[in-house]
Amino acid sequence: MEFFGLFFDSIISLFSDFINPKKRVFIGYLLLSIGLAFVWLMLARKLSSHSASRKIFDLNIFWSASAKADYKIFILNRAFTFFLSPLLLSQIAIATSLYFALHSQSYIHQGQFSDVHKAAIVGLFSVTMFLVDDFSKYILHRWMHKIPALWAIHKVHHSAETLTPITVYRVHPLEGVLYASRSALAQGSVMACFIFLFGNQVDLYTVVGVNVLVFFFHITGSNLRHSHISIRYWPWLEHILISPAQHQVHHSIAKEHYDKNFGVALAVWDWCFGSLHLSEKNSDLKFGLLQEENSSSSDLITLYIKPVLEVFNIAKKYFIDFFHYAFLKLNLKKE
Ligand SMILES: [Zn+2]
Ligand SMILES: [Zn+2]
Repeated sequence: MEFFGLFFDSIISLFSDFINPKKRVFIGYLLLSIGLAFVWLMLARKLSSHSASRKIFDLNIFWSASAKADYKIFILNRAFTFFLSPLLLSQIAIATSLYFALHSQSYIHQGQFSDVHKAAIVGLFSVTMFLVDDFSKYILHRWMHKIPALWAIHKVHHSAETLTPITVYRVHPLEGVLYASRSALAQGSVMACFIFLFGNQVDLYTVVGVNVLVFFFHITGSNLRHSHISIRYWPWLEHILISPAQHQVHHSIAKEHYDKNFGVALAVWDWCFGSLHLSEKNSDLKFGLLQEENSSSSDLITLYIKPVLEVFNIAKKYFIDFFHYAFLKLNLKKE
């Protein structure tokens, strides 16, 4: 009986992201994205409402082999999350350890700024949380592209040849673990510092339980980043916020688009660290992996197992090189 209860719970949790406003694929954000896509296609691309709807709900995109693989990975990864999440470091554990560690330093005392007006504390906390979270995503995403072992894992996301809102879930479970740890570390640290400095007045400005800035990111079409609707912003705005078209540039296999636009919500990090690429008018982007990566596949075994084998081979090579180097050093010393 308990087994059936557990099974039923897992089925509900499988689709829980669609009714959770904290998640990008929340049904409300998806509907808003469809609305935005309509407005964009009719006003900027001058399409009729009929052509716009045919373009938005293009079955060649939503029923492609790549999209079907996205849907399967979505379901499989939910199962992985179900079993892995109890093992992950929690935000509260990090916040609590850092909070107590802060007591051992003597520069700033606990509650140093607790007399600051509550509205200012809540405003500062909401902005800091958003900035630190977004910046940590930028850093980790950049590492995923630059470090060979991490790229082996991140390639699963880039192997998508068509983009749909579900492509955001097309990630290897190991990438899921890395991003969950990043989130716990970034958000837990901000929480600990704020509670230490400002006391129990710390809170977030929220809409439907979501940080107001994250909510703004989602209602302005965060789902269209993984789509075939290339909404562009003005060039000055693409220096501040990543437009859907800019994330599509990130997925493009063209050489000039390689290692560009790592940002999630803000483009300022890319602008500061030299990886910004503005979107281009009428560009016909091809998504996926280069032929030499030899990983462009919608086969699930390849998508799940191959990255692990690649990481293992990279680690093996490092170990062999390290022991070879240590052995040479030891021999030189003897001589
Ligand atoms: Zn990437
Ligand atoms: Zn992406």
